[in-house]
Amino acid sequence: MDNRSFPLHLPLMRPVDMQVIGTELAVKWDDGRETFVSLERLRRACPCAMCRGEADLLGRWSAPPPQSLTAASFVLRDIRMVGSYGLQPVWADGHATGIYSFEYLIRLGESSDSPCPDFLPFS
Ligand SMILES: [Zn+2]
Repeated sequence: MDNRSFPLHLPLMRPVDMQVIGTELAVKWDDGRETFVSLERLRRACPCAMCRGEADLLGRWSAPPPQSLTAASFVLRDIRMVGSYGLQPVWADGHATGIYSFEYLIRLGESSDSPCPDFLPFS
């Protein structure tokens, strides 16, 4: 059996524990790895159409409307599992439309000193 035919770029891991520690979200994966992402970074990297803009039917990209982020925008009220591929944070300001794939979350945690990684749209 050839294991290399497996799509290695897809995370096969799942979160076994998630908790907010101070100002960070800590996610523990079932392979033992951990990801830490600051809540502010997590919110600013929100991949939803409202935060990132969206393309119209002709493929023209429209910028998102300006947002007014408040202190509550960086407070996590809840976090939900979405299927077997992502997490959906519920923020204290009511925003809850962003779905973060596990891969996107891991990349956010791995590149904590650099600007937000490119948004990975779901396909
Ligand atoms: Zn958003």
